[in-house]
Amino acid sequence: MPSLRLFDAHCHLEDPSFDDDRWEVIDRAVKAGVIGMVSSSLDSSDAEKALRLFLPTNVVHISLGLDPRDVDDETEIKAVERLILENEKDIVAVGEVGMDYRIAKQESVRKRQEEVFRRFIRLAEEIDKPIVVHSLWAQRPVLRVLEDEGATRVVLHAFGGSQRDVRTAVERGWYVSIATNVTRSANVQKVAEATPIEYMVLESDSPVLSPDSRGRNEPANLVKSAKFLAKLKGMKPAELAEVTTTNAMEVYGLR
Ligand SMILES: [Zn+2]
Repeated sequence: MPSLRLFDAHCHLEDPSFDDDRWEVIDRAVKAGVIGMVSSSLDSSDAEKALRLFLPTNVVHISLGLDPRDVDDETEIKAVERLILENEKDIVAVGEVGMDYRIAKQESVRKRQEEVFRRFIRLAEEIDKPIVVHSLWAQRPVLRVLEDEGATRVVLHAFGGSQRDVRTAVERGWYVSIATNVTRSANVQKVAEATPIEYMVLESDSPVLSPDSRGRNEPANLVKSAKFLAKLKGMKPAELAEVTTTNAMEVYGLR
């Protein structure tokens, strides 16, 4: 029996980097104590792939989203919106969606990202699902848009905002998701310090954000980040795992 009971609130298991050994990766996660994973597709073809692969499982849950790079592709946006509506009953969330100022340097592109983000927030509220939010280099504008739209169920994936931003999020009852790279990122450690355990969930963001800085990440690595975070928060690893798992299941409506 694995000693920790973990939940990966955000990863990308439909990613081609898992094509050769996807079920071994999932099996390793389960053996390590990961009782559930939420896999987030980033476009319509990956969404279809995720639905095909994971709908029959009860350990990998599905969230459908859009890469902020695709905000000018109206056909693609509509395709993802349609898939979300068609599969409303089988998905646990909308996302990841959001804003990314690292890829959007121009004001016009940032505006467009915001418009599309608002559409997905409204869609998530309409079908009563949480929204999984991407906010790279755009944490404060993202929080403003979420607030403005009255978003209620929110997972701030791989959140990199300031401690003040964390407080803003937590005051609104939104969850802050700490990725496995917390083991090597001083900024993520600061976010984790500021996040009350009641509002923290864990994610791997596999195949990226590995705890070891190199190579493909996988959900089993949550064991490493959970142990690291337990020390940081002055908790027992099993206790931290239990609380963050309960939080994730709560926000994704899995209990
Ligand atoms: Zn991601």
